[in-house]
Amino acid sequence: LKDERESLMIVSSFAQKFFTRYLWNENEGRTIGLSYFRERSFRDDVLKKFEVGFAPDGKTPFTEAAQKQGYKIDFLEKTGLTIVRDDWQRDRFAGRVIFPIHNLAGRVIAFGGRILKEDKKTAKYLNSPESEIYHKSKVLYGIYQAKRSITKNEKCYLVEGYTDVLSMHQAGIENVVASSGTALTPDQIRLMKRFSPNITIIYDGDEAGIKASLRGIDLVLEEGMNVKVLLLPDGEDPDSFAKKMGASGFTNYIRENETDFIQFKTRLLLKTTENDPVAKARLITDVIRSISVIPDSITRSVYIKECSKLLSVNEEVLYTEVRKQKSKQT
Ligand code: ATP
Ligand code: MN
Ligand code: MN
Ligand code: MN
Repeated sequence: LKDERESLMIVSSFAQKFFTRYLWNENEGRTIGLSYFRERSFRDDVLKKFEVGFAPDGKTPFTEAAQKQGYKIDFLEKTGLTIVRDDWQRDRFAGRVIFPIHNLAGRVIAFGGRILKEDKKTAKYLNSPESEIYHKSKVLYGIYQAKRSITKNEKCYLVEGYTDVLSMHQAGIENVVASSGTALTPDQIRLMKRFSPNITIIYDGDEAGIKASLRGIDLVLEEGMNVKVLLLPDGEDPDSFAKKMGASGFTNYIRENETDFIQFKTRLLLKTTENDPVAKARLITDVIRSISVIPDSITRSVYIKECSKLLSVNEEVLYTEVRKQKSKQT
């Protein structure tokens, strides 16, 4: 089984090198793939740091090249690089730009592939399937490139997508990872926690992003970590916003707009509740539910104090509510 895992990593490493070489050195890769990255203003050093690539278009150009080098179809199938059926085979990522996914040690374990021109029929991103070496609920995109910076800065930024991670690096912010299309999981949070207890969520400034942030907050709190949130303007994600603002504008925006989760929830919900007392009560219950999942009692009391100030509610009342919520949870 250990041998099998090693074989899958060796095939994945070959594929990454093949895709990367194709992007930089082959005519098709340069005119289609590299132009795409350049149109999106990604710098060469960032593209190289993340070992991005391009998969040639066609039915099986990659699979044939791999087999010619002696890689077994069995391993190509198990990594998902080749889709194998009884009577046909096909390269999974053909014609897409490629984002390799690295494990903590920097070895390639999977890929994300993006189409160049979006249309309604084709999935924008395609990911490797689960395999012996890739369990998507346990992996964070960018963790290998981020881990030293997370430790150094004592904080990890969490974004949604591949290009968000690249753009943040390009803006000089290297302590960033992405959950990449899966809802955040406890395993992913524990992975960040190995490097720092502080997370700032920067999800897309759309309804999906806000909903995912709210879910993320409680999960992070349950793991006993500190969570902040940064809300981006409507319709922006870290990639688009960094490019619009420039590196220094973007880092300033982050510094000035990062808020702790109580302020984030309160502000968000106050927008919809205004002066409605029933709605305000619901908001308080909601914030209290988040506070009650925090394992550490001292941290809880710090947040209760803040909540009491922000919402003008007596601390004792809030404590009673937290106790009620906690007894419901067990
Ligand atoms: P881009 O800037 O290249 O358009 P994005 O990261 O902004 O990409 P989003 O639509 O915001 O794309 O999605 C966030 C992340 O969710 C993506 O980076 C990708 O990991 C994942 N994702 C998006 N669409 C799909 C899809 N159709 N299938 C699988 N994963 C997807
Ligand atoms: Mn989005
Ligand atoms: Mn996005
Ligand atoms: Mn985007």
